[in-house]
Amino acid sequence: MVRVEQTTCPSCGTNVPQNCVRCRDCGEFLRAEIAEHYSEIKKRPSRVIHSDVGEATNSSQSR
Ligand SMILES: [Zn+2]
Repeated sequence: MVRVEQTTCPSCGTNVPQNCVRCRDCGEFLRAEIAEHYSEIKKRPSRVIHSDVGEATNSSQSR
């Protein structure tokens, strides 16, 4: 049995699993470096952000 480390949201104080990037309650970033990284990305839009979308229906369906 693996116990997930919990951390406390700096914004609202909710306990969230440490492997989460953002608080599930208020959406605050749990780590400063991720928040920084994210704001960097938002500053200059890139096509890579939504790379995980669209791969699900890729292989099985071919019309
Ligand atoms: Zn929160």
